[in-house]
Amino acid sequence: MNNTKYVFVTGGVTSSLGKGIIAASLAKLLQERGYSVTIQKLDPYINIDPGTLNPYEHGECYVTDDGAETDLDLGHYERFLNIPTSQANNVTTGRIYQSVINKERKGEFLGKTVQIIPHITDEIKNRIQILGNTGDYDIVITEIGGTVGDIESLPYVEAVRQMQWELGDNNAIVIHLTLVPYLAAAGELKTKPTQHSVKTLMQSGVSPNILVCRSEHEINDSIKRKLALFCNVKKQDVIQSLDAETIYDVPNLMFKEGLDRVVLEKLELSSEKQPELEAWNEFLSRHKNPKSTVEIGLVGKYVELHDSYKSITEAFIHAGAANQTKVKVRWIHSESLTPENAANKLQGLNGLLVAPGFGDRGIEGKIAAVQYVRENNIPFLGICLGMQMAVIEYSRNVLGLEKANSTEMAKGLQHPVINLMEEQKDVTEKGGTMRLGAWDCEITKDSKVYEAYKSDLISERHRHRYEYNNDYKEQLEAAGLKSTGINPKTGLVETVEIPTHPWFVGVQYHPEYKSTVLNPHPLFVSFIKAALQQSKK
Ligand code: GLN
Repeated sequence: MNNTKYVFVTGGVTSSLGKGIIAASLAKLLQERGYSVTIQKLDPYINIDPGTLNPYEHGECYVTDDGAETDLDLGHYERFLNIPTSQANNVTTGRIYQSVINKERKGEFLGKTVQIIPHITDEIKNRIQILGNTGDYDIVITEIGGTVGDIESLPYVEAVRQMQWELGDNNAIVIHLTLVPYLAAAGELKTKPTQHSVKTLMQSGVSPNILVCRSEHEINDSIKRKLALFCNVKKQDVIQSLDAETIYDVPNLMFKEGLDRVVLEKLELSSEKQPELEAWNEFLSRHKNPKSTVEIGLVGKYVELHDSYKSITEAFIHAGAANQTKVKVRWIHSESLTPENAANKLQGLNGLLVAPGFGDRGIEGKIAAVQYVRENNIPFLGICLGMQMAVIEYSRNVLGLEKANSTEMAKGLQHPVINLMEEQKDVTEKGGTMRLGAWDCEITKDSKVYEAYKSDLISERHRHRYEYNNDYKEQLEAAGLKSTGINPKTGLVETVEIPTHPWFVGVQYHPEYKSTVLNPHPLFVSFIKAALQQSKK
């Protein structure tokens, strides 16, 4: 038995209130007060993981070191806490049911009828306590996805009720995040949606301990009193969460409102030590006081939904702060680009990032963009599919292999410069079968990547099936596209670059997943630095 304390974060009224940011901000404050904290996300949908979801559904699929394909909130957790998450930090209804059904098939329920209560709820509680039982954490924060009142959230709310009953109010608390809307016509903030949402929670037997209320206007004392009275909490437990200029302001705002203090009080933990936010605030000050601006083009096929590239845009913010530069993103739809209009659409950019992706939609646009920045000495970072497009572009336009392509895009290719990986050839299922998670990569000294990492052995996260075809390596290298990062075990090429270009780097892995506020990713920092130099020309 260990003394891990549990904090649950539920959401009411509407989705998109930012439960992930509130959870991450609270965790940050507790961490900087000296507690060891982790955050977990429970997603009520039936997919086993978001790996098979189109980014338009839920935004980016985030990948952990241990190769879990997860919700993008885990990216926020890592960026705020600066510690890695794992498969245990993201659980879906699909995964819960899958393990209960597997147990049933093995006969583990000994002839019992398998039911939502207790079998599904027990499995949910197990998944929550797996993190606590490691003994690594003083506090586990569990964010329940979705909105209270949804049919699919019910088993989760019931699991929370049971855990509170079992562990006691001093070991498990519930923070309910709601919206207090402002009605312009009435000139008033309205508490009724929050009252209703708390009532819904109470119908399931859960009484929130703390309310965090999102609002566009200051919530005054009399409204706080009203919310407290009707929602059965103390006035000091009603915390306002006003709109912030950046998500990275939220830890400070929550500290000001006393969220971490009331949480610690309720959990009967000491709040004597104040959070140490110097490094965090140093980042904020660099972020908010840039001395220059660079404009980076982001070419992708999901640009309509910026959340599809969440980790990339956050990595720009971290790297921008490191260079004390504002990074302005020009969103460019890959399908809108052609060799004829590339010069026009990319005019004035200080750098170009070609994004990850799957399938052939928009790839000719990506290739046209790579050609333009290669020929015009504009800094370039290609990530995963973006790197593959750079190899194709070089093969076509420098090596003269006109029909070069990836076997992902066309069959029976004369020049498959990007090829399905050997280990992928017998794979038939789509879910969880890519080359995933952290792999080592050896870096050649005297390269742009070495300059960035200042190390000859790195580990980065992957998510792909196709890979640089080593049959073309000799030709490509001789023509000037160097392979500067290689997986030591498999010989797979992980990075390519053009030494004669100011900054042209393609990486098969995803550096964006490992960029955090306190550890901006070295490759992004170098890329933005190169863009800054370009902007001075
Ligand atoms: N579709 C490519 C592959 O599977 C690239 C994947 C990606 O960009 N994440 O190899």
